[in-house]
Amino acid sequence: MPSFFSSFFGLKCPTCRRGDLFPTSSFSFDKPFMQWEHCPKCGRDFFPEPGFYYGAMFISYIGSAFFCLGFVMLLHWVLDWSLGGAFAALLAVGGLLFVWWFRFSRCAYFHLVAKYDPKVSQAVENGELNVPAPEATSKN
Ligand SMILES: [Zn+2]
Repeated sequence: MPSFFSSFFGLKCPTCRRGDLFPTSSFSFDKPFMQWEHCPKCGRDFFPEPGFYYGAMFISYIGSAFFCLGFVMLLHWVLDWSLGGAFAALLAVGGLLFVWWFRFSRCAYFHLVAKYDPKVSQAVENGELNVPAPEATSKN
């Protein structure tokens, strides 16, 4: 059985922990805001209601605010970088992690509100489900 952490950090479907939430890799920067409409493995709807991922914005906002503060404070006060250098490094790191953080926030929120179903996960492993191939979408 896939663990919570492998699913949580692997950007997987919270219900079966096997299907990918997103069609492309976060660091390929290809189709960054596209997400599967439903789980490619178990068929779970990834957009159960309009505006479902509104809550993910709060995770994203609060997390990135503390990250930016901590990152600049660490470089400037602890490692003695100049403020300009610290902000330039922040821009570079932020650009690199931008897509991953957007996706991770959605994934974290989805894992908060959706329950894992071991029966569905087992059915996926046994190949008992016949799920049509999902479309990628950029809706929210
Ligand atoms: Zn699934």
